[in-house]
Amino acid sequence: MNIKNLINEYLGDTELQFIRILENITKGKEFKVYLVGGLLRDIVLGLKPNELDIAVEGDIDLLIKLLSDNCSIIQETEFKTFKLKYMDIFVDIALARKESYIPKGSLPSITIASLQEDLSRRDFTINALALEIYPTSSNYMIDPFNAIKDINDKKIKVIHADSFKDDPTRIFRAIRFSERLSFALDDETLKLLDQDKNRIAALTPPRILNEVVKIIDEIYPLPILLKLQKYNIFSHFLPLEKEINVLFENNISTISNWDYFILYLSKHIDELTFNESMNRYPISKKTRTFINNAYNLRRIIKEIKNSSVDRLSIEKFISLEAIIQPSFDAELCLSSPDEEEIICDLILRLSHTKVLINTQDLINLGIQKGKNIGKAFKELKYKKFQLTLKTKEEEIKYIRDSFF
Ligand code: ATP
Ligand code: MG
Repeated sequence: MNIKNLINEYLGDTELQFIRILENITKGKEFKVYLVGGLLRDIVLGLKPNELDIAVEGDIDLLIKLLSDNCSIIQETEFKTFKLKYMDIFVDIALARKESYIPKGSLPSITIASLQEDLSRRDFTINALALEIYPTSSNYMIDPFNAIKDINDKKIKVIHADSFKDDPTRIFRAIRFSERLSFALDDETLKLLDQDKNRIAALTPPRILNEVVKIIDEIYPLPILLKLQKYNIFSHFLPLEKEINVLFENNISTISNWDYFILYLSKHIDELTFNESMNRYPISKKTRTFINNAYNLRRIIKEIKNSSVDRLSIEKFISLEAIIQPSFDAELCLSSPDEEEIICDLILRLSHTKVLINTQDLINLGIQKGKNIGKAFKELKYKKFQLTLKTKEEEIKYIRDSFF
């Protein structure tokens, strides 16, 4: 395998340019710099890697300082890992390190180590490859765990028997990679996964959420979720079982996978249970609003079904206006064709709520500036939503009749 050719073939111009900068900056200095991890796995597989992963032996702070003229530092952790942005690409640079997990399952403590030790703390053999780019621009893979063989055999294999105990997030990773790459879990790894999967319960919710988000962000999340379900792992995240079978089946929606996932779950879990479960996770304000909107919309639809759209209060109309936005796929909240009709009607009505008179017209009519103007607009919109006002004259008449 001519690895240099592969690198030139699969990395983009910007990535290659970054590597050249790295080589120039390190010249004559006491660093050892390697390409590592998923990047090399992907290249061996003939895939374009999604980011540059780099490991460094030496003074990483100095290296980052030297790079700071060309890159911006996006993130820096206490574990001496850095995320940089160079032009439009992201680069992960980390100090070669050892990790010890005491107690097992907790976040590791880190000590500086050789590249060999760094490779042996990695999750799977297929991710434990390295290629020296400085001081030697090497053409040989450093492959202490036979990663290339496992990549060719399409096998996900842990590096040591305590791997899942040390870090149970690797269980999610194993399933994610196996489905993404169509690799099988090696027999022994599968046995360990089965034996250690209960340790996921000891992970903190943010660490679980982090893994779930990575899964949902995959191009094909459903097979991964189904595997998690098969191994009884999904229930560690949410009390949902058979419903995920059809998840993402019809995602022709323009909303993100994550928003789709949230909407879908909210359809199958009652509000209280869902909120109780989600409250354990550090989910964003945007996601929270999304969840509330989904439940509120369903409540409004139910009310319309039991009564009529014309009986909807002005407060409910205002919340509807806020909910039905292009960024929210209201149709995904529906469970029957008659609900679809209701939503279409609501969308149509909302498209007719543009008020034709302006602030000056209201002032000319005798409405006082300030709060009253806002109130008048709100009522006009509400009446237009109810399809009782159409023309500008009708709007003026409504103001005259109801405000004085
Ligand atoms: P992706 O294509 O999803 O980016 P990746 O293999 O690059 O896959 P990252 O999450 O970007 O995965 O991590 C980069 C590398 O860091 C991995 O290849 C792996 O060697 C190592 N790594 C990441 N998470 C863990 C973990 N929990 N335990 C051990 N090693 C890990
Ligand atoms: Mg990566």
